[in-house]
Parts: sequence; structure tokens; C-alpha cells
Amino acid sequence: MDYDCQRCGACCTNTTANASEGYRDYVAVELGDGIRKRKDLMKRFVIFNEAGEAHLKLDADGRCAALRGALGRNVWCVIYSDRPSPCRRVQAGSKLCLTYRRDKGLE
Ligand code: SF4
Ligand code: SF4
Repeated sequence: MDYDCQRCGACCTNTTANASEGYRDYVAVELGDGIRKRKDLMKRFVIFNEAGEAHLKLDADGRCAALRGALGRNVWCVIYSDRPSPCRRVQAGSKLCLTYRRDKGLE
């Protein structure tokens, strides 16, 4: 089965387990990620925790601040070409992808 990321968005949203434990640190922005050179994008989409680690900002629903559209129907990333490394590592159809999808009821 093929999985279409543009009709999903599950991995762009905080996991239920993470959220229930109060964690809002979700997708890390790694040191070598190109977005770090974009001050405008860093200001809009990235937050630093108390330990100084950078993560993508989440909205009140736990969605990445760069995610647009309706989860499971039609979504897109407004910083796609500048998205950080962890976003690039999740492969559609992988075990991790399916775990994220299941968490959001998108089996
Ligand atoms: S959970 Fe899988 S199908 Fe959904 S957006 Fe992420 S990689 Fe794509
Ligand atoms: S930056 Fe884009 S690909 Fe990465 S979690 Fe946010 S919306 Fe998804």
C-alpha cells in the first residue's frame, strides 16, 4: 500500500503519549540543519527549551507550526525545503510512519 504524506500529516503532530506527559518538545532542529541559517524561519517556527535545545514550535493542538491544512485529508508544510533533518528521515510506509498514523487514527 502507498501512503500519501499530503493526505496525512500524522508525523507533523505531537504524539498522544508525548502530549499526555506534557512534552511539547517534538521535532528537533539539529545543529547542521539549514533552517538555522534562516533567522526569519527560526523566529517563526522554532523554540528553544530550558536546555537550549531547538524544536519546531507546536500550536495548541500539538501540530507543527509549519503544518497547514486538514490532518488526514489535505496537508502541506510551509517550510518544506527548509524542514529539519528529523522530518526528512520519516519514510512513508515505514514502521515509524505507521506508528504515527495509528496514533492519529489514520490506519
Ligand atoms: S506519518 Fe507517514 S504518511 Fe503520514 S506524513 Fe508522516 S511519513 Fe507521510
Ligand atoms: S517542518 Fe514541515 S515536515 Fe516537519 S513537522 Fe513541520 S510541517 Fe511536518
